[in-house]
Amino acid sequence: MLLKRTKEDICLLCLDNKATKLNSHILPKFLTKGVLSGTGNKHAFLIGANKRQKVQDTPKQDYLFCPSCEKRFEILETYISNKFFNRFRNTAFKDEFVITKEGYSFMNEPDVMHPNSIDENLFHLFFYSIIWRASISDHDVYSSFKIDPDQEEILRLSLNIFMKNDLAELKKYCNHSQSEIHKFNYSVTTCFTKPISGYIGVYNLENGRYLLYANSIAVVYDFKETHNVPGYNRPGKKIEILMITESAWQNHRLSTIVNTLIRWRDVE
Ligand SMILES: [Zn+2]
Repeated sequence: MLLKRTKEDICLLCLDNKATKLNSHILPKFLTKGVLSGTGNKHAFLIGANKRQKVQDTPKQDYLFCPSCEKRFEILETYISNKFFNRFRNTAFKDEFVITKEGYSFMNEPDVMHPNSIDENLFHLFFYSIIWRASISDHDVYSSFKIDPDQEEILRLSLNIFMKNDLAELKKYCNHSQSEIHKFNYSVTTCFTKPISGYIGVYNLENGRYLLYANSIAVVYDFKETHNVPGYNRPGKKIEILMITESAWQNHRLSTIVNTLIRWRDVE
């Protein structure tokens, strides 16, 4: 049984200041808000390893970080929210998101989006930050999810070194020291339209792979694979977002994984 964290504990990111910050979101609110505001959805289902949990807000936890580290996450998240999540389905910004057919999916349609006005280093740091936070959190929903401890520490070091208190400084530092960002592979899949799945979850898949699922985005991390693989992102490579139709999304194997877990837990 884990001991509950208190304000006397040390910040899990900088390992320096007291972790006095209350209500830290584990996943940023913009990733999960549709879960709660969707048609008729009064609750989201958060799927932890031991149970399915009904909640009315996204998971938050006290005493994980110091206020300064919380601020650093916020700067990174605000940038990614504004430049990516708030724009890519908005036709006013279509020139910033070129969509081509690469044949990664089974569809006969364009299936890969290439964001061309996003700072790529910040994009990578953002996706590293969310899996790291899910791993370090002992909130009910995430408590049994854990990435490999060595990989968790590599991510912490990268995030702690690269994330800054100011956006201009963050971009400048990342640009200058780009080659030092650790190269973990991850794929991002989403839909042309915005589906409401009502589910948030993280899972250990086999062989060093992890799945993070938040409403309309699915991220597969492959921390064992060290090579460039089509469909995966890694620092130093142009960003590719895998795009599928809403019906494909609903029938997608990621949904199948989630649905299977739900059924399994319903039986218990
Ligand atoms: Zn800190």
